[in-house]
Amino acid sequence: MSISYPENGDAGKIRPASGDRPGSRRALPTWTAITRRFRRSIRVRFVFALACALLGITLTAAVWKASQYALLSTFEHTVHEVRTDITPSHNIAVSLLEAERLVRLYEKDQSPALATEFELAAGAIESNFLMFVGHLTNVEEHQDDIDVHLMVSAYDAWQGARQAASGLFARNPETPAFSASFHDTTTGLESAYAATSDFYRRTVSEIERHLSNGQAVSSWAGYVMMSAILAGYLILILTSLYVCRSILHPIESLQEGARRLGKRDFAHRVRLHNKADELGQLGRAFNVAAASLQRLYRELEHRSTRDGLTGALNRAAFTERLSADCASSDRHERPLSLLMVDIDFFKRVNDMHGHQTGDRILQGVVDLMENTIRPGDVVARYGGEEFAVILPDTDEREAVATADRIRRAVERQLFDCGAAEPITVTVSIGCACRQPDAMPSEDLIESADAALYQAKRTGRNRVVKAHPGTGKPSHPVALVSVA
Ligand code: GH3
Ligand code: MG
Ligand code: MG
Repeated sequence: MSISYPENGDAGKIRPASGDRPGSRRALPTWTAITRRFRRSIRVRFVFALACALLGITLTAAVWKASQYALLSTFEHTVHEVRTDITPSHNIAVSLLEAERLVRLYEKDQSPALATEFELAAGAIESNFLMFVGHLTNVEEHQDDIDVHLMVSAYDAWQGARQAASGLFARNPETPAFSASFHDTTTGLESAYAATSDFYRRTVSEIERHLSNGQAVSSWAGYVMMSAILAGYLILILTSLYVCRSILHPIESLQEGARRLGKRDFAHRVRLHNKADELGQLGRAFNVAAASLQRLYRELEHRSTRDGLTGALNRAAFTERLSADCASSDRHERPLSLLMVDIDFFKRVNDMHGHQTGDRILQGVVDLMENTIRPGDVVARYGGEEFAVILPDTDEREAVATADRIRRAVERQLFDCGAAEPITVTVSIGCACRQPDAMPSEDLIESADAALYQAKRTGRNRVVKAHPGTGKPSHPVALVSVA
């Protein structure tokens, strides 16, 4: 279970994150939270813009699809209407066939019922012709229309057939005029039927051709539109990836760089793929600034922690370092030792050879000490010509041995400072060792200082260790080596 810490207000109270509460559902982000994220993040705004663009394309596609559907259905409706409009011509053709059948029957048995039936069929034919002509609002307009001509000729043929039929029904079947009327009637009916059915067939095939053309165009346009939409999506996504890579990522890298800089991580550098564009140049400028900040920070750190003359750790840094090393020795349950080193009769050196020579000897003594100790041990300038050496992970025996190594190294050293004779100096060293959790760092300094004082008091150029239990200088002096 993760723990969320309140930023203020509920300080001190620890409560489980809401998403982790048993049985609780993750709360939906509020409008304020959404707008805050929108305001604070370019990435969020970019994703929003991308979503809007995708939505725009999708809406365009939907509107196009709807209008295509509406157009096609209007077209199909028109085709349906045309079919309805020409239905009378189909009815006419059917009735003409029926009329011809009746006339042929009449020719055989001259039944008056057949004449009556013919009249009925003729009425239907007539009204269908009238209905049909009603759709052709202005026949003049369709003068050049072959289909209209067909219907006009069909009507003319029908008129002739009807006229011949009235003669047929009125004549004596035995007369040649009857046969002539029969012939005229059937011929008229046949040619009317041929023209009408021809018209119907041609018109139907024409509108079906138009319909299938319209459907083909519509589906072709559909493919084109679909390809355009897919291409639009693809272009948008590729452009977004490009923008992401060339703008968002560099901005985020710069943001990360600024964040790391704020945490004093001066070694961090912004890495940008494109160094030529504006963001690339900004990244380079950022890296240059970070490098000079790193240099300045190192210099500042060095100046604030090091002694200007000898390069040893200064007093403030020594105090800090000793506390940290004490804490570390407690943590790892290891002993830690401290040496306090003071040059003997240094005032005399200054008085005899001058201050500058004294300075060079101070530097030389620090160099000697640094060459004598192990890596991880630290030399600090505690006062004028007094130094402290921190020996982490070192027990009393090793510390005394190290102290004596230093003492002997200084004792043997001939300092050539331009004087007639090389100068020699000696050091007195107080040594204190601390077991884990035994004493605070201040007490350790005090013990080592007391041991140093004892070394001075008992003749100088010697090492005195503090008593491990009391921290008081041990009696008699543990290790003495007089030059
Ligand atoms: P002892 O410690 O053996 O008792 O004698 P001492 O002469 O060393 O005693 P004291 O501590 O009184 O003198 C320290 C001298 O160190 C005094 C001062 O002139 C000198 N000193 C302190 N800091 C510097 C420095 O930075 N450069 C030089 N050249 N001398 C320094
Ligand atoms: Mg001294
Ligand atoms: Mg001194």
